[in-house]
Amino acid sequence: MMLMLVETFTVGMLSTNCYVASCPKTKDAIIIDPGLELPVEAQRIVDYISEAELNIKFIVNTHGHSDHVKGNAYFQQKYKVPLCIHPLDAHFIAELTPNNYLQNKTLEDGSIISCGQEMLRVLHTPGHTPGSICLVGEKLIFSGDTLFAGSIGRTDFPEGSNSDMQLSLQEIVALPDYLLVYPGHGETTMVGEEKRINPFIKNKGKNMFLF
Ligand SMILES: [Zn+2]
Ligand SMILES: [Zn+2]
Repeated sequence: MMLMLVETFTVGMLSTNCYVASCPKTKDAIIIDPGLELPVEAQRIVDYISEAELNIKFIVNTHGHSDHVKGNAYFQQKYKVPLCIHPLDAHFIAELTPNNYLQNKTLEDGSIISCGQEMLRVLHTPGHTPGSICLVGEKLIFSGDTLFAGSIGRTDFPEGSNSDMQLSLQEIVALPDYLLVYPGHGETTMVGEEKRINPFIKNKGKNMFLF
């Protein structure tokens, strides 16, 4: 069983993590959250992709905030691949208009994104935004701005919801401890570690009743 290869590029003013995740066997790959602002950031990512000889299959946005999506158009033009986002966040993305990139793909809870021999399952985790998603693989989870190492995403934006966030965190708590977490900002962590130390999810058993 080969593990998905993940390369991290920290881009933009808000130090957003853009990930290139690939299947080591087939070299199929996806770009997650290309929130770049500078041409030099795009170039670093393009160089990595060509040096590693990856075949980009999809661009995926964990949500629609600009620090995660600014490079969508650049990479779509470069690689001619579908852009994937949850419909509740699609309005954030100017490129997702009719007549433009008809191959774009909306995601829903349970959607599968195939990447060579690897598969990522979409977990809809509203709260930070209504269409926030996490991508769950065999050994890892891309958590967007829902879960960070020791913290969680803000819910005080106009479309944020703290009650939705609480339910989404319970979904993540129900996942295996060994999953490596790749968040939208900051360092990687593990699901089990966050269950132990993250003040926002500590003591949240999955059966806890929320009012
Ligand atoms: Zn965000
Ligand atoms: Zn962000």
